[in-house]
Amino acid sequence: MQTRYKRIMIKVTGESLLGQREYGIDPQAARELAQKIKSVADLGIQVAIVIGGGNIFRGLSGSKNGIDRATADYMGMLATVMNGMALEDALIKVGVPVRLQSALTMTSVAEPFLRKRAIHHLEKGRVVILSAGTGNPYVTTDTGASLHALELHCEVLMKATKVDGVYNADPQTHPEAKRYKTLNYRDILHDRLQVMDAAALSMSMDNNLTTQVFQLFEGDYLLRAVKGEPVGTIMSNDVTTQFA
Ligand code: UDP
Repeated sequence: MQTRYKRIMIKVTGESLLGQREYGIDPQAARELAQKIKSVADLGIQVAIVIGGGNIFRGLSGSKNGIDRATADYMGMLATVMNGMALEDALIKVGVPVRLQSALTMTSVAEPFLRKRAIHHLEKGRVVILSAGTGNPYVTTDTGASLHALELHCEVLMKATKVDGVYNADPQTHPEAKRYKTLNYRDILHDRLQVMDAAALSMSMDNNLTTQVFQLFEGDYLLRAVKGEPVGTIMSNDVTTQFA
C-alpha cells in the first residue's frame, strides 16, 4: 500500500483506554487500540506514540480539588505511565515490537526518555510509547506530543480523539456544530478555539508541524490518514480554514 509518511507521531488520549468504563483501563479497549496501531506499523511506518492520562488523573482537576498544581500534574504524568504500560502489554500481545519510555525516571518499568535511543528504536521498526509527557508540570500530553514529534523528526502529528475532527462548538451539546476540514493555526489562536493546550499550539505553529485530528476507534481512519487522505481536520500554517 502506498503511504504518505515514513515516521508519524500519534497522540492517544487516555480516554481511548476507557472502553465502556468511566474510570481506569479496559484491557479490551487497549487491545483494540493495539490492533489499530499494528495495522500501520505493519506497513513499515515508524510509529511513536504519546499517551495521555485523562482516564485516570488530570492535574487540573486535582488542583481544583486542592492539590498543589505541580504535584497534581506529576500525578497526572504517573497516570500516563500506567496507560503506557497497558498499551505496551497490548502491543506485545498482538505481536508488535515495542519499547516504553518515560520522561520521569522509572527504570523498573520504562526506559528513561532518550531522544537518540527512541530514534534508534524507530529505525529498528519498534513502536515507541512515550509516557510522562514532557516530564514537566503546567502542560499536558498535547505539548509532549508536539515536542516529541519535533525532536524525533516525525512528519506529522496525528491526534486520535473520540470525535471525528475539530468542531466550532461541542457537537455533543450543539447539534448544529460544524466540523473544520482544515484549520489554520492562526485562527485557533485568534478565535481561542480549545483544540490543544496553548504551549502545544505555539510549538506546532512556530515549527511548522502539521496536526491531523480524527476519530481512531471506528472505521479505518488511521490507515486512511497515513495514506494521505484528509480525514478529520488538518491543522497547519499552510492551510486556509474551511468547514467540511
Ligand atoms: N501532564 C503534565 N505534563 C506533561 C504531560 C502531562 O503535567 O508534559 C499531566 C497533566 O496534569 C495532565 C495529565 O498529566 O492533565 C494527563 O495528561 P493529559 O491531560 O494530557 O491526558 P489526556 O487528556 O490526553 O488523556
